[in-house]
Amino acid sequence: LANKKFHPEPSIIKVGNASIGGDELIIMSGPCAVESEDQVMETAKAIQKAGAQILRGGAYKPRTSPYAFQGLEEDGLKLMKEAKDETGLAVVCEVTSLAAIEAAVKYVDMLQIGARNMQNFYLLKEAGKTGLPVLLKRGLSATIDEWLNASEYIIAEGNPNVVLCERGIRTFETATRNTLDISAVPVIKHKSHLPIIVDPSHATGVRKYVKPLAMSAIAAGADGLMIETHPNPACALSDGPQSLTFQQFEELCGEIRPLAKLM
Ligand code: PEP
Ligand code: MN
Repeated sequence: LANKKFHPEPSIIKVGNASIGGDELIIMSGPCAVESEDQVMETAKAIQKAGAQILRGGAYKPRTSPYAFQGLEEDGLKLMKEAKDETGLAVVCEVTSLAAIEAAVKYVDMLQIGARNMQNFYLLKEAGKTGLPVLLKRGLSATIDEWLNASEYIIAEGNPNVVLCERGIRTFETATRNTLDISAVPVIKHKSHLPIIVDPSHATGVRKYVKPLAMSAIAAGADGLMIETHPNPACALSDGPQSLTFQQFEELCGEIRPLAKLM
């Protein structure tokens, strides 16, 4: 069902007021983790001013260490909904369990399945059943065909609203947190009708590499970007080193818009 043979026209997925896969470049931005009302509200306003259409923020954090901050859970979802009501931005939050899905459907416009859960087929089916658009991140070591098969689990539940997100894969290289597989963009465009966005923040783990990889994603034909931002990255409870300040984010948006228009 994700195959272009089945559906030759590119799919356009509506998320709140935004459409992913159409002519407009879609930018999702926000903190790795929802930390406080002030943090989320400030971020929502700043990213909206810079031109982003979707607010991201994790309320359930799949952290590598069980001792790291795990997220505000439903309280975090409520803060995302407040930011949505205040700004009109659509919101996307990661879900890591059935309980998280049941809570998230009350507050968000889009569910995110994280890299670590890409092959959690039970979770994919439950996300599919909600009918909400699903942002499906590529697994850390997943091939493109495995990723498309994972999308199939969601679509097979009668929910065609899937957006893929390339976020870097595991390789031998250690200079960046992951290796951005930029070739995934044209490969997905060739094989599938589903929109694909790129997340240069998790792909690199390094703030200064976010902009060049965001530009390469657009040049490769991505439908959008996911970029982590924080009011004060040095104090972020997670992923501070890759998070942009609002000023850096605004500069990045200013530089990528003309590039997106050329594509
Ligand atoms: C995230 O987007 O917050 C996240 C945890 O990303 P990934 O699943 O790609 O590691
Ligand atoms: Mn993060």
